[in-house]
Amino acid sequence: CGIVGITADGEIVGSITRMLVDGLKRLEYRGYDSAGFALIECGTARILVFKDKGRISHVVEKYGIEAYCSHTGIAHTRWATHGEPSQRNAHPHIDCRSEIAVVHNGIIKNFAELRELLASKGHMFRSDTDTEVIAHLFEEYVSKGLDGLEALRKIVQVLEGAYAIAIINAREPLRIYFARRVSPLIIGLGEGFNMVSSDIPSILPYTRRVIVLEDGEYGFIEPYKVYIEKDGKPINWRTRVIRVEW
Ligand code: GLU
Repeated sequence: CGIVGITADGEIVGSITRMLVDGLKRLEYRGYDSAGFALIECGTARILVFKDKGRISHVVEKYGIEAYCSHTGIAHTRWATHGEPSQRNAHPHIDCRSEIAVVHNGIIKNFAELRELLASKGHMFRSDTDTEVIAHLFEEYVSKGLDGLEALRKIVQVLEGAYAIAIINAREPLRIYFARRVSPLIIGLGEGFNMVSSDIPSILPYTRRVIVLEDGEYGFIEPYKVYIEKDGKPINWRTRVIRVEW
């Protein structure tokens, strides 16, 4: 299972969907049963979600992923832990209004109680996964007036278990939120773009400047900005950039 996300500005936007597809294929070795993409569409800033059970190439061809224009997208390969491998359980998962999309590797241990709480507040669930609670939590916090980063801070406080997460929000179309506990996640620093990924192979064709996230870290990337914090305190990530030689 694996995650890739890219947010970009300028000419490179035309290559984003190809980079996501290629990046995801480079994580194939991690094993998977389903794959999916969430793209913020150029011009409309709507979130488009494409996912299915089966091989990455099946999903890519079925939906013609590489033909879309997107400046921000996230992609996922799933190794099912909660809910059978199926189209509806494949990631990304979205909130009720289709404004938030989430991909996740790992297991949210307290998802059942979170799901019950969110359902009692009117959230409708579409899948059997532990992951879907994250999209609804984000929606719930944002609808209470929190901004995206504040919502993410609350999410990492309430989630128990292991996770590498990437989240996009149609209202912040040039940003990808991320969080990491136990499951691996790295950031790739590009020129006019930044990436998040489960592992180095998906980043290497595009950049060799990498930050390896540590447990409990979360934040966001934008095309020209990286922000990381832990326990509410900003991390000085510049001292942590490594150059990967291959
Ligand atoms: N627990 C999540 C699910 O079953 C994520 C599994 C994964 O790491 O791919 O959908």
